[in-house]
Amino acid sequence: MCAMGKGRKEPSLPIERRETIRRYISAVLQEHTLSAKDMSTYLRIPEKDVYEHLEHIRKTISKDNYRLVVVPAQCERCGFAFRKRGRLSQPGKCPMCHGSLILPPLFAIR
Ligand SMILES: [Zn+2]
Repeated sequence: MCAMGKGRKEPSLPIERRETIRRYISAVLQEHTLSAKDMSTYLRIPEKDVYEHLEHIRKTISKDNYRLVVVPAQCERCGFAFRKRGRLSQPGKCPMCHGSLILPPLFAIR
C-alpha cells in the first residue's frame, strides 16, 4: 500500500523544503496579489499550509523593509470587509448579514 499523496494526512515537509516554499511565496507575492487558494493550487500544497507560511512570512518579513499586505476578506452579499481580523485565514460567515459567500483575502508583499 502506498501512503504517498493521499491528501489530508501528508507528513510535514522537511525544513529545507519549507524554507524554499517560503522564499518562493515571498518572491511571487512581490509580483502578484494572490489568494491562499491561488497559491495552494500553484504550489500544490494544502491551503492551510499556505496560511502557515504566510503567518511565518508576516512575522519575519519586516526586517527586510517589506510588508505583507492583506486585502481583507469581503462578504459577497453585503460588501462587509473583515478588516480587523487578526488571523489571515478566510472567515466562514459574515457578522452583518450572516451570508456565507465570502471572497477570500488577498496577499501581496510590498
Ligand atoms: Zn454580509
